[in-house]
Amino acid sequence: MRGLMMDTQLTITGIMRHAELNYPDTEVVSVTADNPLHRYTYKDWFRRSRQLANALKKLGAVEDDCIATLAWNDYRHLELYYATSCSGMICHTINPRLFPEQVAYIVNHAEDKFVFVDLLVYKLMEALHTNLPSVKGYIILTDAEHMPETSLPNVYCYEDLIAAESDQFEWPDLDENTACVLCYTSGTTGNPKGVLYSHRSAVLHAYAGSLPSVLNLKTADVLLPIVPMFHVNAWGLPYAAPINGCKLVMPGPKMADGETLHFLLNSEKVTFSAGVPTVWLALLDYLDKENKSLDTLRRLTVGGAACPLSIIERFRDDYDVEVMQGWGMTEMSPLGTLFSLKAGMEDLSKDEKAQLQLKQGRGVFGCEMKIVDEDNNELPWDGVAFGALKVRGPWVCSAYFKADNTDSHDADGWFDTGDVANIDAQGYMQITDRTKDVIKSGGEWISSIELENIAVDHPDVTETAVIGRYHPKWTERPLLIVISHADSELNKADILKWFDGKVATWMIPNDVVFVDELPHTATGKLNKLSLRDQFKDYQFPDA
Ligand code: ADP
Repeated sequence: MRGLMMDTQLTITGIMRHAELNYPDTEVVSVTADNPLHRYTYKDWFRRSRQLANALKKLGAVEDDCIATLAWNDYRHLELYYATSCSGMICHTINPRLFPEQVAYIVNHAEDKFVFVDLLVYKLMEALHTNLPSVKGYIILTDAEHMPETSLPNVYCYEDLIAAESDQFEWPDLDENTACVLCYTSGTTGNPKGVLYSHRSAVLHAYAGSLPSVLNLKTADVLLPIVPMFHVNAWGLPYAAPINGCKLVMPGPKMADGETLHFLLNSEKVTFSAGVPTVWLALLDYLDKENKSLDTLRRLTVGGAACPLSIIERFRDDYDVEVMQGWGMTEMSPLGTLFSLKAGMEDLSKDEKAQLQLKQGRGVFGCEMKIVDEDNNELPWDGVAFGALKVRGPWVCSAYFKADNTDSHDADGWFDTGDVANIDAQGYMQITDRTKDVIKSGGEWISSIELENIAVDHPDVTETAVIGRYHPKWTERPLLIVISHADSELNKADILKWFDGKVATWMIPNDVVFVDELPHTATGKLNKLSLRDQFKDYQFPDA
């Protein structure tokens, strides 16, 4: 027998209606290239989204069209999120820091119809537009006063484009499975792959993310999403904020600038923020150097890459801020796990708690997890057994955009995350490596991340990478690549000795190479594919 409840569609339009009625005066504060501090309210946000929807229609954009954005976190980007998705179009967010060839590949693969581009980024499009046949026009995200001279064809100024439009718009009734946003993975394993979110997945993900045992978002919260809106929808915060009525503070192009972040955090009374480890390190360095305090921020989320212990300890000891590590990926909208303490853990010492914070967190309801061995047999949650981490749920992708998914999903529909992990009896998951980065030494697996974390804790080390290289006896052995501090005299023997007692002897790297620079992807992650290529002819001294 079926239940007798309303089959109301879960759509982003629903979030917008709720927010406009309940929180019209909630503020959105933004830094943009043309205004150091722009301020308006939710009411303005959605009124202008309707004007933009009318403008899109007049330009000739229709349902299912992909509309590209190359933009930072600010109010105009928020308007684009809502105007496109709620019109039945697809907001295709692109990372402006990608290599130009990757941007061209992505725009052509998605067949984007219009490109909305930030004032700081339009020159990138000037260099590419002749190779983008699907694009009918470019809109620069600024006002008439700041509109540049440009060689882009069919170019419009955003403010002029929407100013002429009515602020009334009849949003279509959308099926909740309608696509809303398209985001490509950063392509560390070949060409970027498109992940196409639906209204339903975005709403459920934002609901789950708001829960007290997840991000614990409340109406009184002030959010500073430092994670970019082109990086998995700023982890869902542009949807979670209006669901809860939270004030939004958007750092624009200044997301790695410690001084601006500190100013926004204190002057706008931010209570919660989210970003990748590198932005937190930049902020901590600024706070330390300038001897500043954090007045209202009490908790933050770090994800996208493993969180070093130093971030947890420095925020805790010097600024009274709790760090909650989370894990996820583009294919998962992105939320999979998040740190929270369970009942009975209140009396853990701060070091015991930090050890839990170093893990990637506990499963969020809506995203099932399992770890499996090489034959796809499920492994126990004992904190020791580790294997391929698989997930399943309504905000996990079921296929890639315009691609077959034969090796990403198994016969039962579980998605292989490409991560290797263990899960303890309390449900805390710990990533030990990516499947392709784990070092297979004589039948045993060595975690490259574990070795990197140990090496980076050495006081003379700035950054490290560990990759597996061919070894005639062991098949693969770990090679440690190190950037040391400019004034240090660190040598091979010192850094190898640092591993004594910290890992089993057979896991200690066989050799060390000192470099001045390590390659990173556009999202700031170590690019191990390029490192393996760089060291493809490397031979171990004992080989
Ligand atoms: P891409 O997969 O294209 O690099 P994503 O941003 O989707 O881009 O990255 C997802 C991957 O990032 C995860 O599969 C995992 O390897 C890594 N990751 C994300 N969060 C964490 C975390 N807290 N700790 C360790 N690794 C993480």
